[in-house]
Amino acid sequence: MRIDFHTHSSVSDGTDPPAAVMRQARAAGLDVVALTDHDTVDGHPEAKRELPPGMTFVPGMELSCRLDGHSVHMLAYLFDPAHAELADQSERIRTDRVRRAVAMVSRLADLGTGVTWEQVTEMADGGVVGRPHIARALAARGVIDKPSLAFTKEWIGMGGRAYVGRYALEPAHAIALIRDAGGVAVLAHPRAGRDSWMIPDEVIARLAASGLAGVEVWHPDHDSSERTRLLHLADELGLVPSGGSDDHGTLTGHRLGCEVITPESYERLIERSSGAVPVRI
Ligand SMILES: [Zn+2]
Ligand SMILES: [Zn+2]
Repeated sequence: MRIDFHTHSSVSDGTDPPAAVMRQARAAGLDVVALTDHDTVDGHPEAKRELPPGMTFVPGMELSCRLDGHSVHMLAYLFDPAHAELADQSERIRTDRVRRAVAMVSRLADLGTGVTWEQVTEMADGGVVGRPHIARALAARGVIDKPSLAFTKEWIGMGGRAYVGRYALEPAHAIALIRDAGGVAVLAHPRAGRDSWMIPDEVIARLAASGLAGVEVWHPDHDSSERTRLLHLADELGLVPSGGSDDHGTLTGHRLGCEVITPESYERLIERSSGAVPVRI
């Protein structure tokens, strides 16, 4: 059984609609796929409706959190999407993301880049506008050679000239909300490195004590030594090792299924959840 537990669609910052993600997942030989768009469950109905035969769909979401000034991503699975407080908080994050994106575009305009709000919303194609879309707009204007170069102090990297912070949840708060909604919380890519914070063992231990169910081990941005360390840590803390491709369509070179989790991890995460069930047709 091949299980990819981390994917994105154009409902957040991926490039392909949920139906296409489901189709491509099947074509990639997957049996189970979780859709984990940033701060939204809006892609779930389409994913379920267009589920290819034989494929199991797991409803998920990747919640934007912040700890000590660092961005932290918390994956949530199998929660009740109608849970009022969780729905309110994810909506607040989404709304604030727009305010923040507008502010960053205005700073970029002041910096003479020529990037406009119209151009950025076009890049988002109806999805939640985020920094990846602004990065693509900057590249399209020829300000930078490729989108990844936007995430620096020069432009929209944290602390950058056009960077604006935004609303996010404390990870412990996110975990409590996810659990209250009957879901399971999994810490996303804690050792992705590069621009992101390498979350220390002690912090993961604290989150485990707050009710965290799992931690991503199998992620494209984790090298083999981090995977080994995280597997040990998960074992020590009683966390379920999890992961997935974190595919964003063309942005990540269509890599659905490049990372999978074990059936045992899958079963353990399902066992701990009560807010929703995997969907299979
Ligand atoms: Zn993430
Ligand atoms: Zn992700």
